[in-house]
Amino acid sequence: MNSSDGKSILVISAHPDDESLGAGGTIASHASSGIPVDVLCLTSNKTRLAELDAACKELGVRKVYAGERDDFAIDLDLRQEVVNTILESRPSVIITHSIEDYNMNHIVCSELVDQAVDWASHSTIFENAHRVERIYHMEINSLLSRPHVIVDISTNYDSALSALKKHESQLEKADGFYVKFYDARTHLRGVQGSCERAEAFTIKIPFHAGPFYPENSVKRLI
Ligand SMILES: [Zn+2]
Repeated sequence: MNSSDGKSILVISAHPDDESLGAGGTIASHASSGIPVDVLCLTSNKTRLAELDAACKELGVRKVYAGERDDFAIDLDLRQEVVNTILESRPSVIITHSIEDYNMNHIVCSELVDQAVDWASHSTIFENAHRVERIYHMEINSLLSRPHVIVDISTNYDSALSALKKHESQLEKADGFYVKFYDARTHLRGVQGSCERAEAFTIKIPFHAGPFYPENSVKRLI
């Protein structure tokens, strides 16, 4: 087991199963290396929360945060809840949805995370303000057109698939689409990454320039 050097990951998803489908192998890979991974899921109910807990246990997640609300009840008013979780979890990086996604709730979640990351970084607002280094966007039911990074999950694929299958209430949807798609997509990304199985992400550096971001006023680029 490696040291985390104080680094940690927070995964912020719209629905139970998104964490496994989009980043299950990546979560398991980091958790098994000793890097703490927390998950915030914005929606759940009793059944799906139990499935989420079981999946996250399989992946080695440190802490699960979940909002109990309907699948579609995601809007920008949830920003403070996301900020509170960022300030408690204090992640180096966040993994969340991409605005390239087909699902409207995933797109709103992605925008919500952008706003929350910015808001949580203001030391003029929060005594315990926290700067997230990077945001990684995952792919769920559609493919990212231009991923920046391919993560080799070959040794963690079995754990990720097992976690995905903990979401029993979702497995029969669309003729077993989720498991089939995860199998095909991780294989495709593995071919791209010269490994057996992989997950793909785009990267966003969430910093601004200007008088309220003095750490981003520099004398040299390198
Ligand atoms: Zn979803």
